[in-house]
Amino acid sequence: MKILVINAGSSSLKYQLIDMSNEEVIAKGLCERIAINGSFLTHKAHGKEYVFKQDMPNHKVAIKMVLDALVSNECGVIKSMDEITAVGHRVVHGAEDFNTSVIIDEKVLDCLRVNSELAPLHNPANIMGIEACQAIMPRTPMVAVFDTAFHATMPEKAYLYGLAYSDYKNYRIRKYGFHGTSHMFVANQAAKYLNKPIEELKIITCHLGNGSSITAVNKGKSVETSMGFTPLDGLPMGTRSGSLDPAIVEFLMQKTGKDVHEVLKHLNKECGMLGLSGNSSDFRDLTCDGALNNPSNKRAVDIFAYRVKKFIGEYSAVMNGCDVIVFTAGVGENTPYVRGEACKDMQYLGVELDENKNENCPRGKIVDLSKDTSKVRVLVIPTNEELVIATETKRVAKI
Ligand code: ADP
Repeated sequence: MKILVINAGSSSLKYQLIDMSNEEVIAKGLCERIAINGSFLTHKAHGKEYVFKQDMPNHKVAIKMVLDALVSNECGVIKSMDEITAVGHRVVHGAEDFNTSVIIDEKVLDCLRVNSELAPLHNPANIMGIEACQAIMPRTPMVAVFDTAFHATMPEKAYLYGLAYSDYKNYRIRKYGFHGTSHMFVANQAAKYLNKPIEELKIITCHLGNGSSITAVNKGKSVETSMGFTPLDGLPMGTRSGSLDPAIVEFLMQKTGKDVHEVLKHLNKECGMLGLSGNSSDFRDLTCDGALNNPSNKRAVDIFAYRVKKFIGEYSAVMNGCDVIVFTAGVGENTPYVRGEACKDMQYLGVELDENKNENCPRGKIVDLSKDTSKVRVLVIPTNEELVIATETKRVAKI
């Protein structure tokens, strides 16, 4: 059984075709610059990479190109589209309407359209991806897997802001949280690796990538998370500021003459690691090959690691302790400096990181970085959001 996983952005579309009999990725790729001049598809299959340059005026054309590539003589991996049993779509925002993955029908699509006001940068693109697939594969079951769903278990005291309660009731302003598929996956992997029921564990999952969030997983359920109403909240990220005093928005407007949209664009695109370092949003540029000798780079990365450490402390307080800290995603899996700084001086919690294991952590597998004497296990676990989406699709579509 083969499942196609689609992650549609406003001008990009990522896909993976996964054989669920062995969870092998048979082909994957990325359409870039959709509806912009110079669009192209990069398709990886049979250990090779193929690039197709062709106009993609919309997502439907992009999906058609992906399906053509999957069945083509040159770089195909299946004989016909009928071999695709179901399609799983990543959908960023399910709001309070969806606390689990669902089969996509017209009612679900209508709900996603309404929820677009909560995720104007993401949901419209996800909807375009779904509609494009439906147009080309009308008989294939489609499932929506939400970034927000795993966080539906947060208690009210965690998800409400200190706004007027009517702001929540009237406008649905609350913490939703994101990266749920990744937090759920690595928390379950941690329990499996430690050979303990997840119901007995207090886990802090640190998904640190270009976008970053941290979640407190108590007994297998998300009880707190650092991203909020939007993915701008929480940690400083590649280009996002993370949480700040809301009065700064108006102050910046006055000082710079920018309107509110321009200030929000600044907070989303020009702050975080990029703004703090003045050099790059990319942690590889900031930490590899002596880059940390540059004080601007070090300042940015130190602020990031300090904020990770603060969330670990906060979430240990929330759960009355912590058994496991998990690092995952591009930065969490590959940046020893961030892990080392974030876990430094944590004797109060019982965290003892083995510096040698941290520095020499092999890539692509689960590794325990803590000393044998450490009360808290510190694990690196590679995330796999596409596999979660495919597994959820199989479960929900009952195939
Ligand atoms: P997202 O999915 O949010 O776009 P990723 O999880 O792919 O992001 O993480 C991207 C980040 O991970 C980038 O800042 C990148 O530099 C960093 N990264 C990836 N590989 C390495 C590496 N080997 N060393 C340091 N940083 C890395």
